[in-house]
Amino acid sequence: MSNDPTDTAYRPATRLLHAGIERTPFGETSEAMFLTSGFVYDNAEQAEATFTGDVVHYQYSRFGNPTVAALERRLADLEGAEACIATSTGMGAVSSALLSHVKAGDRVVASRALFGSCHWIVANLLPRYGVETVFVDGGDLAGWAAALSRPTAAVLLESPSNPMLEILDIRAIADLAHKAGAIVVVDNVFATPLLQKPLELGADVVVYSCTKHIDGQGRVLGGAVLGRQDWIANTLQPFTRNTGNALSPFNAWVMLKGLETLTLRVRAMTENAAAVADYLAGAEGVTRVFYPGRPDHPQYELAQRQMTGGSTLVAFEVAGGKAGAFAFMNALRLIAISNNLGDARSMVTHPATTTHMKISPEDRAQLGITDGVIRFSVGLEDAEDLKNDLARGVVALGLR
Ligand SMILES: *Cc1c(COP(=O)(O)O)cnc(C)c1O
Repeated sequence: MSNDPTDTAYRPATRLLHAGIERTPFGETSEAMFLTSGFVYDNAEQAEATFTGDVVHYQYSRFGNPTVAALERRLADLEGAEACIATSTGMGAVSSALLSHVKAGDRVVASRALFGSCHWIVANLLPRYGVETVFVDGGDLAGWAAALSRPTAAVLLESPSNPMLEILDIRAIADLAHKAGAIVVVDNVFATPLLQKPLELGADVVVYSCTKHIDGQGRVLGGAVLGRQDWIANTLQPFTRNTGNALSPFNAWVMLKGLETLTLRVRAMTENAAAVADYLAGAEGVTRVFYPGRPDHPQYELAQRQMTGGSTLVAFEVAGGKAGAFAFMNALRLIAISNNLGDARSMVTHPATTTHMKISPEDRAQLGITDGVIRFSVGLEDAEDLKNDLARGVVALGLR
């Protein structure tokens, strides 16, 4: 069978096992792990030719590494992107995508509901470098139109959003952004590369925290930026190479192993998420459930159009505010309390006191992150065991 990444006859599950492989003369089955910082040249002429660009040869692992390159090829293949650069973390991907593209005097428009550190970059870091930043309520297309009525360099958005799983209309926002001259950067972590294809919806750049579903087993940190070849080569790559945001080859290798099972895991986790969302919707003391795969989700129609699954995360609100949420979480025995997500193991977090504690109470209220909200990253456990564990939380609510 062909390993040619341009062979589009194969479906994602197949491509995730075969795309991007470049075997050494030993013919190893599993991708080789090149734990090397540098590379040697046959002679001084070859070194010179490498630096002038006349010869293609690895130089130094901050610039490129064969194991990292295999991951980049496989991610680009999966995403349907022309090119990919892997980074040391997801935040490395987001910060590099923005900082490589903008300069002082530029303008950035972002959705308000962003991952905490993404919010910090837009709210605090970019303005320090002379970039004007504007936040918009993700679902408010008139707000996007107003914010994008002036020339803008970049738009950053997340859909589904963290932690409330709000769905943004990527195509409509991309149309407005392009009229303003902006590139559209989509943080696609919550959707995974399998459930949503931002590039097909008009986005220019897709960023991932590979720490989440791509490793998916809670082992290593990593990130990726995907987009057009010219932008990656001329805008992003000079930035990442010279600022040192390189992914470790060991982490890249772990993520290549993670990608082999990504389809299986995301499918099973999404089925579990749908099952527990239905369970929670009928549970005493659970006041609201937010799951894009449920018809009662506020943007259900849009989610159906834009995604091929409801996501592996569920947000829900319990009665009793912070005390209720804490009682619910503390009663769980199987589901861990952890702010990570996309892991094979189920995890809950209380956004108001952890991931989103640095956001002002007013902003949290605007985002719908009440003190009773719990974010649930649904893992691979048996759905019945998860429901039984959640039932302990429900009992704890009643006992209060
Ligand atoms: C985790 C996460 C990030 C940051 O990724 P790291 O690998 O932790 O740096 C960015 N965006 C979203 C939506 C995330 O969930």
